[in-house]
This record gives sequence, C-alpha cells and structure tokens, in this order.
Amino acid sequence: MMTLKEALKLSADELKKLKDELQEKIKANPELNAYIDVNNVGEGVPIAIKDNIQVKDWSVTSGSKILQGYIAPYNATVIEKMIKAGLSPFGRTNMDEFAMGSTTESSFYGKTLNPIDASRVPGGSSGGSAAAVGAGLAIAALGSDTGGSIRQPAAFCGIVGMKPTYGRVSRYGLGAYASSLDQIGPMTQNVEDAAILYDIISGHDPKDSTSADKNDKVSKNLNPQRKLRIAVLPKYIENASEDVKIAYAKAIDALKAQGHEIIEREMMDAKFDISAYYITATAEATTNLARYDGIRYGNRIEGKNLEETFINTRSEGFGDEVKRRILLGNFVLSSGYYEAYYVKAQKTRHIIKEEYAKIFEDVDLILSPVAPTVANKFGELENPMDMYLSDLYTISINLAGLPALSLPICKNPEGMPVGLQLIANAYEEQTLFDGALSLEREIAYTK
Ligand code: GLN
Repeated sequence: MMTLKEALKLSADELKKLKDELQEKIKANPELNAYIDVNNVGEGVPIAIKDNIQVKDWSVTSGSKILQGYIAPYNATVIEKMIKAGLSPFGRTNMDEFAMGSTTESSFYGKTLNPIDASRVPGGSSGGSAAAVGAGLAIAALGSDTGGSIRQPAAFCGIVGMKPTYGRVSRYGLGAYASSLDQIGPMTQNVEDAAILYDIISGHDPKDSTSADKNDKVSKNLNPQRKLRIAVLPKYIENASEDVKIAYAKAIDALKAQGHEIIEREMMDAKFDISAYYITATAEATTNLARYDGIRYGNRIEGKNLEETFINTRSEGFGDEVKRRILLGNFVLSSGYYEAYYVKAQKTRHIIKEEYAKIFEDVDLILSPVAPTVANKFGELENPMDMYLSDLYTISINLAGLPALSLPICKNPEGMPVGLQLIANAYEEQTLFDGALSLEREIAYTK
C-alpha cells in the first residue's frame, strides 16, 4: 500500500482510482471485519476513521447498539482539519464498545480479526483501524487512546500508532470514554506518516476546554540524526513475555547503533497503575455514559413510563463490558467508597506523574513494552481481570498525559509482530518522532 506521504501527491483522478481499488479490496476481505462501512464520497486522500469520531452525516456509534440510528450532525475538529489538509474520511472502523477493551471483541458489529493470524485478536479498542492499516485496506487511520487503544492494536498488527500529549489534539467530536485520559491519534504504516497525520490533526481548538494552546509542528523538522538520552527499564520489563524481552534487547542495540545514550531507570510496580486507571476510567465513563438514555440519541426501547424507557434502553443497548464498567464506576464514586477508591486513585495518579517527571529531568525518551505479549488468541483472556492486567504497560502514560509512539520491532518465531513504545515528556512530540524515526531506520522492520 502506498504511504500517506505518497498519496498526498496524487491527482484527483489517481485518488479516485485508489479509493475504488481500496473499496474493492475491502469488499473482497469481509471476514476481517475491519470496517463497519465504507463511505467513498469525499475528494481527498482516504483515511479510515474509528467509529467514535463524529463525521457529519455518517452513522457514528462507538461500536454500540445503543447508538444505532444516530446520525452525526457535525464534524469532529480532527475531521475538519483533515478535510482542510486534503484528506477525506473514507470509512468507519470497528472498535470495542465505547472504546472499552483490548481486543475489539466487545463491538456490536462482531469481532475484527488480526490480519497476520486470523485466530488472534487485532488488539483494541482501535482494532478495526489497526487491522485496516495492517491488512493494506487503509493508507492510514485515526484511533483513540484512553489507556493504550492506539498503541496496543498497532503493536499487535505490526503498524505505527501514536498517542499525543493530552491536550494536543482536540477531543471535540470524540465520543467520550474517560475525558481526562482520551486522545485521538494517528495509526499509520510508518513513523513519518504518523508525524504528517499528527501535524494535520493537532493544534489548539477553542471548542475543547482542555485543548493546549500549542501549534508547533513536527514533520518538516524530523531529524533522526539527533543523539538522545534514552531510559530503559530492566526491572519493569520483567513481567513481559520472552518475545517482548527479545524485542527490547534488539531495540536497545539498535538505539546504541544509532549513537543514542542508554540509561537504566526504574518505575514503580505497574499494579498501582492498573488500579488507578480502572478506578479513574470507570468513574469518568459512568458520568459520560449517563447521557445515553434513549431520549437524546440513537436507539430507544419504549417502556410504560419514562423511567422504564431509560431502563429498557440502557439494558438492551449496552453490552456486558460497558455495564460492568458502569457498575464499577458508580461503586467507586458512591459516598461510602469515594475516599477509599476515587480519591486514592487520584493521589496515585499524581505519584505516577511525578515519577515520570523525575525520569524526564535527565532523559529525552523512555523505551517501554506496549503489551506483555504478542496478540492473544481469541478466547485466551477469558476473564475481564486478565484483560485489565494486560494493559500494564500503556495506561500510566495516559494517567500522566504524556505522548508515546508504538512501532514494530521484530517478529516472534510464529511470525507475530512485537511492538515497543517510546515515551516522551509532555509536548516533546518532536523528540518522540525524531527518536522513533531513528529506531525505525535502524530496525528496518518488514511486513
Ligand atoms: N484497554 C483499556 C480499557 O479497556 C484501554 C482502552 C482505550 O484506550 N480506549 O480501558
């Protein structure tokens, strides 16, 4: 598949041909289930869009039954920016319901398959976007990352996924999961494309009160020659599988070969991240999902009175994972437990932030695993707790609001891609992309 950089140079006729070819290819691969639908109408370079980003006149459902019938009345800011830059939203991609999950199995539209091995998950929650790019059914895609949902599916499908600093990319028009953690970001075939798409979608937006007043761009200044100080975490990676440890060693060698300085650092046990994240995320999700009452949006299941209509709509409309999180969120916010859980989680979040700040006092980047293993087989993570635990390497970055980029390093003996991530200090996207580009060049990963 041609890159985004190449596609941006195509004429209108060439673009039309490319889009028709893409559409044919998608039709010929229905079992992958990466796209929910294709909307081949716009003029620009086609970009696949996760089903939680508003595209005017599209059905946008966050992978949920409760939003069936809802038609987006406006464009998210990222879509407006894309259209201005000559891109066009091409189709919406499958995802875990309301972005809750790590496998894309909780979608109302059924599961998406991993393009490299159909017996495995593509990761989640942006599994449709990752599978589309990984399978050559998209030039590039947008995903959203609350606790790893861009980086982990990117790693599982052998592509690049980038989560910007919190506030860099407008959340206006993003279906909220946990508002203090959510960021939209690029999912692409390579680091340079990620930088190009990041530049297009980032920048201050008065429509998002948490948007940062920053507009600096990275893709024109990419410099893989820069020598950086990069922290590695020998103890922190002990819980990862052999596949990941091998990739980690390989990446360290590659970074050294590129002339970067490697420094050993440590992080506290990730079990605290998991607790702090699942309390914070479910508390915010509970509040955000309260609006889906059958009156304002989408699907309504009528009852005898208003209360019964709410109950019927929500009971029928939300899937099991979403219900589980609504229960958890209400529990941690309830008066008897608020101090013990929610307040404590916020304190832990503060400690995590401080821990990163300390490391970034004298390093430029941190090298970390993305997931503890390669893509799981379907059914392998059978209880929800196992799935939550598998997020150990991604969620602290969202809690701290930092930018991170996941890129493929090597394949395990079964041919599954192993991705790792680089993490930068807040607003240091330039450093992040420079380091990632130098690692990508030295590693020379091929599909
Ligand atoms: N797997 C994590 C969760 O289920 C992260 C999801 C995400 O980033 N949207 O909450």
